Amino acid sequence: MEAQIAVLAGDGIGPEIVAEAVKVLCAVERRFGHRFEMKEYPVGGAAYDCCGDCLPDETLAACKSADAILLGAVGGPKWDRLPVSQRPERRALLTLRSELGLFANLRPAKVWDALTGASPLREEIVSAGIDMLIVRELTGGAYFGEKGRGDGGRSAYDVTPYSVHEIERVARVAFEAARRRFPQGGRLPKVTSVDKANVLETSRLWRETVTALHAAEYADVELEHLYVDNAAMQLVRAPSRFDVILTENMFGDILSDEASQITGSIGMLPSASVGVSGGGLYEPIHGSAPDIAGKGIANPLATILSAAAMLRHSFGLGAEADAIEHAVASVLARGLRTADIADQGGASVSTSAMGDAVAEAVGVVI
Ligand code: NAD
Repeated sequence: MEAQIAVLAGDGIGPEIVAEAVKVLCAVERRFGHRFEMKEYPVGGAAYDCCGDCLPDETLAACKSADAILLGAVGGPKWDRLPVSQRPERRALLTLRSELGLFANLRPAKVWDALTGASPLREEIVSAGIDMLIVRELTGGAYFGEKGRGDGGRSAYDVTPYSVHEIERVARVAFEAARRRFPQGGRLPKVTSVDKANVLETSRLWRETVTALHAAEYADVELEHLYVDNAAMQLVRAPSRFDVILTENMFGDILSDEASQITGSIGMLPSASVGVSGGGLYEPIHGSAPDIAGKGIANPLATILSAAAMLRHSFGLGAEADAIEHAVASVLARGLRTADIADQGGASVSTSAMGDAVAEAVGVVI
């Protein structure tokens, strides 16, 4: 296939890690005979420095017309004193989300076999297997509802609106993702829908809507409902019980950070934000790590795995995404580690050596 990918390296370690993901995508092109047109555009503090805007018009237009976007990270101390509305995180990330209508955020949280020691959870919990996908609604709920102050500033409110349309479209993303996780029909994929339906009216609408959609279109997927307080507890008590978690904006914000922490390695976690059109935004969950920028020691695997998510979710290239994920598993199994995931005192490789190893492993047809 042919696809256009807008590449936004950004700030700090962004250019270093994105270069490795591009390298791996080139290996996929060679092995599978695809053609990805990967063009770079300025974003974040780097774009502010060169063009006076953290999201220049040219970058936004390119993102809108691309089939998908690969982003490194934005921000850093150099731009912290800009007015909030012009800062990289606000101007670039939030504008991209709203302009592209990115209403669903997908975050896998997985403990790789070779890295079980990195999880802060007890060994018997981790050994049961941790491999879940959190699908979070991204453009509704309390973060976007009406907010304000009353009583001379002594009371405040944040309205949490949700419509059937908003719930259905994100639930569909979760059910489809669950189906894709077990395409061979080996075991029934499961969606756990998380709400607070015992207290909140929006949660009752959430539960009714998800249940109705499941009955109408996704009977081949198992559905369960959990209250958010129970879900937070189960994530640390029995994380292996989860497959796909579907939840609203604020619950998802909190649960996805909790889930990422139980894997123990921020440099390993990709994310995808998908919207109304086919394209999507793919980026590691971590930031620009200014403390290690330019040293060639950043872990590129979260960005490489974000590229795999792009192939799977935006282009429907499941085998190619699997090839990247297997390549990552194989280099980890061989003992390759960047500094952040190396055992204390253990040897580590550079950002580019890790990228080379994954690209090489992608090219090896097993
Ligand atoms: P961070 O995620 O950048 O770094 C937290 C810690 O994790 C640091 O010690 C860093 O060295 C380490 N780390 C992060 N990614 C790593 C990797 N790939 N390999 C090895 N180590 C890694 O969070 P922060 O320090 O709070 O934020 C730094 C800047 O990034 C801030 O300006 C923040 O606003 C911005 N930020 C951007 C995004 C984004 O672009 N999506 C997300 C979060 C933070």
